[in-house]
Amino acid sequence: MNALPLNKKYAWREIPRRSAPKRGAAERVADFREIYTPFDEAAIREQASRCIQCGDPLCRTGCPLSNRIPEWMALTAEGEFLEAAKISALTSNMPEICSRVCPQERLCENACIMNSCSEPIAIGAVEKFITEYAFAHGGVDVTVAPSNGFRVAVIGSGPGGLACADELAKVGCAVTVFEAQSIPGGLLVNGIPSFKLDKRIVARRINILQRRGICFHLNTKVGIDVSFTELRKNFDAIFIGIGAQKPKALDVPGAELAGIYDALPFLIGKNVSASNDIDVKGKHVAVLGGGDTAMDCLRTALRSGALEATCIYRRDLANMPGSRKEYVNAVEEGAQFRFLTNPVSLEGENGQVKRVCCVRMELGEPDASGRRKPRPEPGSEFLFKADVVIVAYGFDPFQIKQWGFEGVAINEWGGITVDTGQMTSVPGVFAGGDSSRGPSLVVHAVRDARKAAASIHAYLATGSKT
Ligand code: SF4
Repeated sequence: MNALPLNKKYAWREIPRRSAPKRGAAERVADFREIYTPFDEAAIREQASRCIQCGDPLCRTGCPLSNRIPEWMALTAEGEFLEAAKISALTSNMPEICSRVCPQERLCENACIMNSCSEPIAIGAVEKFITEYAFAHGGVDVTVAPSNGFRVAVIGSGPGGLACADELAKVGCAVTVFEAQSIPGGLLVNGIPSFKLDKRIVARRINILQRRGICFHLNTKVGIDVSFTELRKNFDAIFIGIGAQKPKALDVPGAELAGIYDALPFLIGKNVSASNDIDVKGKHVAVLGGGDTAMDCLRTALRSGALEATCIYRRDLANMPGSRKEYVNAVEEGAQFRFLTNPVSLEGENGQVKRVCCVRMELGEPDASGRRKPRPEPGSEFLFKADVVIVAYGFDPFQIKQWGFEGVAINEWGGITVDTGQMTSVPGVFAGGDSSRGPSLVVHAVRDARKAAASIHAYLATGSKT
């Protein structure tokens, strides 16, 4: 391909950053399809050419996977998309997924040096483009590695399980993934709505893993259908990636009323099974919480015909944990926000929730997390109309007792304890992602899993067995 007629080093002076194109809000709330549309080749090359190839690429430090961003930027600017995708795949097991769901404004793009003089390079958009290009042009590696004779069980098929399975298959392990649900993908399928990550994107990645020889046992609950003891007997090592999807409870008077739901069943019902069990059509929906899951619930409610979807969050926008990109998308789509507002009880009629009793909050000193601690304003109580309340206060790890992970130690908040190589208290049994670190980003689960896979490989190479 031809080189762009640009003064490369200073292209950023001539070319403004462009955000990924997206469909209009009125169109996108009418369906569950992804909201972003692709850049064309010329536009993505222009965006990549804004990268100045700085000597100390801070973007790599900002990316939890330490992706080789400047290398794939240079190749993309030259139109060498397949080469760029090959480099990207060396450090990431699912770049087409991370590029869609990472909060880049807090990670790679936040660290980009261009923030000091202009706007950051559109890293996520370039990563997505080159990976999609590779899929479309047969550029995704499906090589089956020669067997090394080892068998590894992976429990859970979320981002951690998939990344660990992928890394181990690449070095010749026979990997079997055990998934309790009928569809593989874990959080990628159940927790992330299709308008952010189309289910077919996840299915396509799983298909690549299957073609590499990874075996998926679906509808198989460890602790019920197969025991941990059996897995330890039949496999040389085990990776646990079961996530942390136990909802944090709503602990206020009235929490038992009908019409109050946890976020995950609501998202699964609307995005995966398309069920109408939780009907929000024509209703006033209140979403409690300010993280990405809350944004997902607001946007899902609007797509499901809610008359109004309002986020009730006790801190202000500056202290809200959710991604700014997703907040902006939610606002564009018609979501309302009540910041510095805390629900203190719920009121109903005939057993059905009708109102959220709220109190106004003010921000005090920063707490241990560095965010300013909210406190109630005396006498500021008010009522907020709500026919449906969705609780999106985040997640805790599952009680691992139910899985029968005998001997696997847990920490004080219920997460699986791991050492620096992701090994649990049981030799040969490793863990990563939300089940060991607590609820976090997809990209963090991928990083943990890659680390665990390297440790498992080293562990097996020393001749030790579980
Ligand atoms: Fe950025 Fe996430 Fe891609 Fe890393 S994986 S380059 S943080 S979008």
